[in-house]
Amino acid sequence: MTSAEGIDEIHILWISEGMSCDGDTVSITASSQPAIEDVVNGLIPGLPKVHLYNKVLSPTLGGEEFLAPFRAAVKGELEPFIFVLEGSVPNEKINGDGYWSSFGNDQDTGEPLTLNWWIDRLAPKAWAVVTAGTCAAYGGIHAMAGNPTGCMGLADYLGWDFRSAGGLPIVNVPGCPVQPENFMETLTWVLYHAAGDAPPPPLDDKLRPQWMFGKTVHEGCDRAAYYEQADFSKDYNSPKCQVKIGCWGPVVNCNVPKRGWMGGIGGCPNVGGICIGCTMPGFPDKFMPFMDAPPGGSLSTTLIKPYGTFIRRMRGITNVTANKEPKWHHNRELLTSGYDPRWRP
Ligand code: SF4
Ligand code: SF4
Repeated sequence: MTSAEGIDEIHILWISEGMSCDGDTVSITASSQPAIEDVVNGLIPGLPKVHLYNKVLSPTLGGEEFLAPFRAAVKGELEPFIFVLEGSVPNEKINGDGYWSSFGNDQDTGEPLTLNWWIDRLAPKAWAVVTAGTCAAYGGIHAMAGNPTGCMGLADYLGWDFRSAGGLPIVNVPGCPVQPENFMETLTWVLYHAAGDAPPPPLDDKLRPQWMFGKTVHEGCDRAAYYEQADFSKDYNSPKCQVKIGCWGPVVNCNVPKRGWMGGIGGCPNVGGICIGCTMPGFPDKFMPFMDAPPGGSLSTTLIKPYGTFIRRMRGITNVTANKEPKWHHNRELLTSGYDPRWRP
């Protein structure tokens, strides 16, 4: 249903039958700015009325009752809708005699309907297409070297120049799992755009929201000052920079150290977790073996060592003096502050 301003009622068809652990759905339930409940209950001014179909958050008992809106959308009887994919897309051209992933059965033949069958029919009709998590965006863990399914991200499957019925490229919100507010904030932007109240969300060339993935983990990390002072952790019980014990933060696009994980708290390196690059198209292969120092880290830490060691020593000395009160703070019968009586009336 549309009005002169834009769409005022919209469906969200969320399929998590990609190769995934359903961790992205679980993660977004932790979002509070906004909460999925607020979006669905119409508590956010200006958003279209939203009908959500997600198997974990569904009030149905599953089966055909749950599948009904998806079947209706395939027939063109449920519009407009946003198609959300969770999990990577297997290559069903190499499935042998079986299939890799299915979602319901064909009502005539009883044969499983593959995820790819649904994508082929839903994506072209969708007003917008959004991926939840790195698996759906770029393939993720399931697409690593040696995998048997030949799986990939949605843009690899549909084409990077895909445009939805609403004229949008695929909107990728990576993360393993996706950071709760990163997903809900992006979905909210897409919904405001649907309502006619916002421009399309600005995306980078990997189709990620620019305002979230434009900076590196290192640029927002609580431990970055330790790096600059060449003060590096040797184990995981230290508050210092973790680059020598496997942190890839300097070359990874992610806002989690700034944003935190739940309610602004946490965020990988801030709380002792090395960054393993889980938002990146090259994840996981380019960041393995996890917990080994990144190859570039030995060069950068060697280069910064003379500067960092010297400057840390200098700051230590200045810190001692800065911690002392000036010597004219005393209770003796003599003013020693350097006050010049020349201007006394
Ligand atoms: S812990 Fe990682 S992200 Fe933080 S300062 Fe060190 S290298 Fe950078
Ligand atoms: S900081 Fe690194 S490991 Fe943590 S969510 Fe971001 S990309 Fe993933």
